[in-house]
Amino acid sequence: MSTVSDLKGPNRPNRVEVKAAVRRAVEGAADEIIRLARDIYDHPEPGFTEERTSRVVAQALTKAGVNPETQIAITGLKGVRSYNGAGPTVGVLGELDALRAPGHPGADPVSGVAHACGHHSQLGALVGAAIGLGVPEVTATLSGRVAFMATPAEEFIDIGMRWALLETGHLGLLSGKQEMIRLGAFDDVDMAMMVHTSSSGPQRRFIVGGTSNAHVVHYVRFLGKAAHAGGAPHHGVNALQAAMLALTAVNAQRETFEADDRIRVHGIITLGGVATNAVPAEVVYEGRVRGRTMQAVEKIAARVENCYRAGALAIGAELEIVVIPGYLPLENNPVLARLFSANVASEFGKDSIVSQAAHTNAGGSTDMGDLSQIMPVLHPYVAAADGTGHGIDYVISDYRRAVVDSATALALTVVDLLSDDAAEARRLIESHRPAMTRRGYVKSQVDRLRKIHYRGE
Ligand SMILES: [Zn+2]
Ligand SMILES: [Zn+2]
Repeated sequence: MSTVSDLKGPNRPNRVEVKAAVRRAVEGAADEIIRLARDIYDHPEPGFTEERTSRVVAQALTKAGVNPETQIAITGLKGVRSYNGAGPTVGVLGELDALRAPGHPGADPVSGVAHACGHHSQLGALVGAAIGLGVPEVTATLSGRVAFMATPAEEFIDIGMRWALLETGHLGLLSGKQEMIRLGAFDDVDMAMMVHTSSSGPQRRFIVGGTSNAHVVHYVRFLGKAAHAGGAPHHGVNALQAAMLALTAVNAQRETFEADDRIRVHGIITLGGVATNAVPAEVVYEGRVRGRTMQAVEKIAARVENCYRAGALAIGAELEIVVIPGYLPLENNPVLARLFSANVASEFGKDSIVSQAAHTNAGGSTDMGDLSQIMPVLHPYVAAADGTGHGIDYVISDYRRAVVDSATALALTVVDLLSDDAAEARRLIESHRPAMTRRGYVKSQVDRLRKIHYRGE
């Protein structure tokens, strides 16, 4: 292997040679990064509790020569590699969290937490990219910096727990990237990229483009009065009846949803009562309203809030609604998409890349959407899984594609951005007009967070 000083002056490698060195380094680390991804799969942790996951990723990044700062937004981490010349900072991201999918083959037998969204393979790709971007050919030629970041809690679940963390001052916003933006972890990052796994689309291909839904999160407590369910039900106020009427009213709205708005309204009851022989005094509902735009979400969310009130009013229950700002729609940057697609095509063949129209929207949401409102981002998918996302059958079927090829594609795209005095990255930043400033984003999210009390009488 050459050293950095061998590669100065006339021996300076050209971009083809740099890319070949990156490819070799990632390939050489293939077993190691797949092993890391599988190890994380075997130890799934839900959002903001990814302590072990964060630790093993930090260790692997340190071994790759990137000493990360840890415990950002509780479990997040960030390690920066600076190259010789000045230039922009490219963020390469991986998500730390699993979700709850009891019955999944990788599920923790007690908690039911499982990597049913494939985030473990993103972390293998993150470390693979760090290894690829640490070889002497790269350090001798690139300008600027790369921030390798692992972000907590992308799956917007366990709302009660997160709300408690907010009320005790441990969080200000309730997803990992949101909170890392709020804390300033992205202040010195100019653009960001990651690769998410998918089971849709042609197997083994990368899918670039498309958008995602905005959403708002409701944490709702219906509060009644306990009484003996056999001996004195007339003394009780049944919170479960209030919640059921509320959800019936929500369902009655569905015929009014406009197809173009891509509305999704869904939720779970996380507390339905505590004793069968007592009138339920408290019922907790965690709900979600999604839509193509924030305006579409707000319109339906206001009606849904009325439905909660209707249930409480009918039964004479009390109601507490916490409205939590969810995610904003994803905007993929066309320049990043072009560079990434070209690298995938040249590495793996033209058939390995599928481009989607910018408005293609499967209905899901991601906090990469929030990031895309303040900087250029890329959130492609790699079709390397079987089963249904978030289902018990969603498993990575092709670890090489999910981990190694994703790492290579990300690292080579960084080479394009930061070569030649980071000319491509500089041009991109100059041409990009973010929809919001970073401070403006944080203010608008914090302002949208509110708590509503209602007494149904
Ligand atoms: Zn997911
Ligand atoms: Zn995911």
